[in-house]
Amino acid sequence: MAIPFVPRIDDAPVIDPGPILDSHRDALVRALDGRNVVGIVVTHCHSDHSPLTEWLHKETGATRFAIGPHRVYEGFVEEDDHDPSEDDPDEKKPESDEEKETIDMAFTPDYAVVDGERFFATDQFSLTAVATPGHTSNHLCVSMDAENALFTGDHVMGWSTTVVSPPDGDMRQYFESMQKVIARTDSILWPTHGGPVTEPAPFLAAYYEHRLERERQIIEQIAIGNNTIPGIVKVLYASVNKQLHRPARRSVWSHLRKLVEDGVVQTADGGLPRLLGEYVLTN
Ligand SMILES: [Zn+2]
Repeated sequence: MAIPFVPRIDDAPVIDPGPILDSHRDALVRALDGRNVVGIVVTHCHSDHSPLTEWLHKETGATRFAIGPHRVYEGFVEEDDHDPSEDDPDEKKPESDEEKETIDMAFTPDYAVVDGERFFATDQFSLTAVATPGHTSNHLCVSMDAENALFTGDHVMGWSTTVVSPPDGDMRQYFESMQKVIARTDSILWPTHGGPVTEPAPFLAAYYEHRLERERQIIEQIAIGNNTIPGIVKVLYASVNKQLHRPARRSVWSHLRKLVEDGVVQTADGGLPRLLGEYVLTN
């Protein structure tokens, strides 16, 4: 399909072309309005971010930039924590939530950027890589330098907290990457989900504090003997729709993996920190 507009002289990079949906592809074509696509940047390989890249690359020939493909975890065995009481009775396709969370293993960049690299420049703008592992190990934020703007992908969302889901999601890295973005002086953040953040400093401080508060709450729950992840989620996410408890369990799990590494918490059986394991405070 050719882009059905008269080209204009301005060049545009596209960050995260998005999912493979006709409606989404058409919206992208409309937004481009005939601009010359001079680069495609992928923040990470979740299925709502990268899959349309292949189509856009074929249409335009533009170079694909990213940290790298999604990392593969050989031998990782997923524990089944499916709870039928959390299924939505009105949902015709119960797998649709999981579709949103699937990973685009096919994506590979033409050019692998590294942290701090000014990887793209025209006479109108330049882009610099800000590596932000945590949401995924290959997560990339993109600085549009002259605008003092940061495209944050899923590292910082405008409408909710980010899910950090093991094994690729890593809460320790996420905390470090939050500190990295907090230390910057961007004037505006452009998340992939939610609206722009026009006052980054207080927003990021609150976002970070929410994570710290969650960590404190998890420690408190274990201290009073509520020592499994499903049990902790039932208390801490009591006011949240039950269909969101499954991703919430993965976020609590990533907090606990960090707390075990920190030596604050240990597993009851002395083994690895599992999704369906039991936890105790370290004496
Ligand atoms: Zn994501």
